Amino acid sequence: MTLKTYHGACLCGAVAFEADIDLSLGTGKCNCTSCLKRRWWSVSVKPEAFRAIKGEALLEPTAAGRSFCPHCGITPYGRVAAAEWNDGESVSINVVCLDDATVEELVAAPVQYMDGLHDNWWEAPEEVRHL
Ligand SMILES: [Zn+2]
Repeated sequence: MTLKTYHGACLCGAVAFEADIDLSLGTGKCNCTSCLKRRWWSVSVKPEAFRAIKGEALLEPTAAGRSFCPHCGITPYGRVAAAEWNDGESVSINVVCLDDATVEELVAAPVQYMDGLHDNWWEAPEEVRHL
């Protein structure tokens, strides 16, 4: 277990954040149409482990509840409200927006796949290589 403080941003840098993350605890990829088209690769942290540095007010809400920078179109993170299906509020972070995550760290991060396309979020789809 390696908790590390990462610094992240959207592509243009208008939205920036930092978060304390242990990538070895796992990341997520989903095959629903929203995640697929955005090639969303997420890591989830508790709000206490996340600090918005700048630009949070710029993030435009979308139908899927995620948000993107209006200048570059990238979704650096999205805040997730507490719901029946989760264990409270969290922040879902775009793994590839972590500017100081090394290639080695990204490759080593376990990926949990979700079959969101079939509303079967707790199981992996049969095919995941395209995600
Ligand atoms: Zn941007």
